[in-house]
Amino acid sequence: MNSDLNLRQNSNPRLFVGADQPKAAAPPQVAAAPQVPLSSPDITQAEIDAVTAVLRTPQLSLGPELSAFEAALAAYHSVPDAVAVSSGTAGLHLALLTLGIGEGDEVIVPSFAFVAVANAILQVRATPVFAEIDPVTLNLDPAAIERAVSPRTRALLVVHTFGVPAEMDALQAIACRHSLFIIEDACEAIGAEYQGKRAGSFGDLAVFGFYPNKQITTGEGGAVLARDPGHASRLRSLRNQGRNSTSNWLDHGEVGYNYRLSELACALGRVQLSRIDEILALRRAAAERYDALLKGIAGLELPPLILPHRIISWFVYVVRLPEEVDRDQVQTALARRGIATGRYFDPIRLQPAWRTHSSTGAATLRLTESIARRTLALPFFNRITMSQQEEVAAVLGEAIDACRAF
Ligand SMILES: *Cc1c(COP(=O)(O)O)cnc(C)c1O
Repeated sequence: MNSDLNLRQNSNPRLFVGADQPKAAAPPQVAAAPQVPLSSPDITQAEIDAVTAVLRTPQLSLGPELSAFEAALAAYHSVPDAVAVSSGTAGLHLALLTLGIGEGDEVIVPSFAFVAVANAILQVRATPVFAEIDPVTLNLDPAAIERAVSPRTRALLVVHTFGVPAEMDALQAIACRHSLFIIEDACEAIGAEYQGKRAGSFGDLAVFGFYPNKQITTGEGGAVLARDPGHASRLRSLRNQGRNSTSNWLDHGEVGYNYRLSELACALGRVQLSRIDEILALRRAAAERYDALLKGIAGLELPPLILPHRIISWFVYVVRLPEEVDRDQVQTALARRGIATGRYFDPIRLQPAWRTHSSTGAATLRLTESIARRTLALPFFNRITMSQQEEVAAVLGEAIDACRAF
């Protein structure tokens, strides 16, 4: 995540050690960690105790922590079942496989999203069809989905971008009209609500991710929520090398994967999930502080704090820079003062790996591309302090002014 920052800092020619240097030369220095990181996990003694307790048992995989974490996830979302997996991306892959989506099928996705969304569709040999987003919520625009539906469309992969729930009633109506599955990618949105229902409780299947920058973390990890018992048992089989619940350990009913989540990770996740109300409140307070601090910067667009029918689960704090301001310059200026930022997200279609890839959909997504050029994620985590946020706001204001004067 900070790799571009590190690259920039390491580009100092004094740090370059040539091949002909004597062996004793100092190794290239690693750039110092930023004073204000982009994200930071919030691990308390309770998490440390829970993981340590697992280490004192002989069962480090497929044990009681897995069942308990899955039960807690299902209960929190009021859905019948949850299947924990090794990452959010693994969850997306298994969700597509479980619904039988494969070669010749199309899945509608946003291009303004984390690349895993489209990669998972390719992994099952289906075709991602990129559709335009709504400029306020940054989620798939229902009208754009309607235009993107073809006879080959099988599913909508709905990302609740940055923890803002998508317009689920409109999307469910479209899915119903065209007999499409809905897979929710709720990796950025645990605890968000749309019309009083939690993100992840709408789709046929819903995927969560627990990487360390998410609202709750298991180090690496993810989960798929399922309402159909058939889907849940297929997910469990696929995550465990195609073994079904009754088969012998060396009997494999189908070709599967190792997408299991360890007992250590599940214990960590269980404590994190038990703290979710506290975590979401801390993040909301941090978002409100940014809103107050940044309001005065002319031309800077801030994310909405309140949206009708929705409760936002704050994943990241992403601002939109004024049109005339150079984002690279702003990021460099902030990095020099020890403040990490991120480009959330460059459109998937414009990623080097995807530029030459044959995929269908609109040739250009004008809105996606014009918005994505201006977005900047600011440092954002549970324990970010008022003084760190004041520093970010001050340096950001100066950097924008400097760009304008340039
Ligand atoms: C984080 C994230 C994922 C999953 O990421 P993993 O690193 O594989 O856990 C998937 N989709 C979106 C939108 C995400 O933000």
